[in-house]
Amino acid sequence: MKTSKSVKIISLILIIAIIAVLGVSAAFAGISVRRRLNTVHGDYTALTGLADKTILFIGDGMGENHVKATEAYYGDKTYFTSFGANGFVTTYSNSITGPTDSAAAASAMATGIKYDNGEVSRRDGKFVSTVCELAKENGYGVGIVTTDNLYGATPAAFSSHAKNRNDTDEIVRGQISGGIDLYLGAGKDVYDNYRADFENAGYEFVSDLNAASGERMVIGVFDEVVACDGSDEKPTLEMLTDFATDFFERNFPDGYFLMVEGAHIDKTSHKNDIEGMVRYLKSFDESIKNTARKLISENVAFIVTADHETGGLKYSSESRYEIVDGMFTSKNHTSANVPYYIRITSKPDDYVSDLINKVIDNTDIYRICKALLTRKNVV
Ligand SMILES: [Zn+2]
Repeated sequence: MKTSKSVKIISLILIIAIIAVLGVSAAFAGISVRRRLNTVHGDYTALTGLADKTILFIGDGMGENHVKATEAYYGDKTYFTSFGANGFVTTYSNSITGPTDSAAAASAMATGIKYDNGEVSRRDGKFVSTVCELAKENGYGVGIVTTDNLYGATPAAFSSHAKNRNDTDEIVRGQISGGIDLYLGAGKDVYDNYRADFENAGYEFVSDLNAASGERMVIGVFDEVVACDGSDEKPTLEMLTDFATDFFERNFPDGYFLMVEGAHIDKTSHKNDIEGMVRYLKSFDESIKNTARKLISENVAFIVTADHETGGLKYSSESRYEIVDGMFTSKNHTSANVPYYIRITSKPDDYVSDLINKVIDNTDIYRICKALLTRKNVV
């Protein structure tokens, strides 16, 4: 009699537990599905073929306050904020807990769909076609430039496919066979192991920027990409971007797609190192300004954005000497929307601004690039 009662109680507890687990799972699944359904995309057909050259600058971890704090620190406006088509980007990934990581966000921008954190342009075991692959198919040159290791999540999402951002060998092997014309970034210690594979695939493999002839595909890998006082062995992002635009103007004068990442805005923000952050953001901005000045007579689309905000940076009109590490409120990524700034030199900023919503999703970055990289006569 007593035993039977215990069994009933245990059964009841088990049933309640199962119902609770199912309920929580359903709720989580619901959130995931709802997120996908709620992503409204703009119509970017009017952008089709508006630029010969499309350059996407990604400031990793760069929220709006990172830009404001940098401007206050240097007492000078950033160059890219002069781009009159601007607004904000939603960055959430398919992962239901916490903010996005760089892999999911970069994959969303590279391919136009959402990912779980950690995934690299590969979902449910399938490779998802990237904007770089599309650009190649449409006859454009394609380049990847970063201050990060070239196998890092952001460059990887644009140039390879992997189940996880930590699958370095799979990422590098995808890069070797991916047909991208130019890679410039850090990670020399890892890439040295693949030197012969890159050379067999037709690449000029260098670790000294000055040593590259740039007459065929190039991979330049360095120990480090620094914020200032660069050298050919330890270059700055400005030096890499300058090399890249020279390379493409010479080899692909009819058009190219270039992704340039300022990865250390994120890395310094994780450490709550405000001085490091402003230095790297300044270098990122100088890279954009120098590129715009050099390509002044060209037909170029400049897209500047971020993959997510890092550090929960607060800014409320502090002056230069009040810019301190304590303005960071977190050591991690946050879900804050990030800014975008776009200029297409063939059209006035107002014209472009009218074609792009004030708040877009990170998957729209892919759609915008796709329209720009589709030549008018092949629509
Ligand atoms: Zn990060």
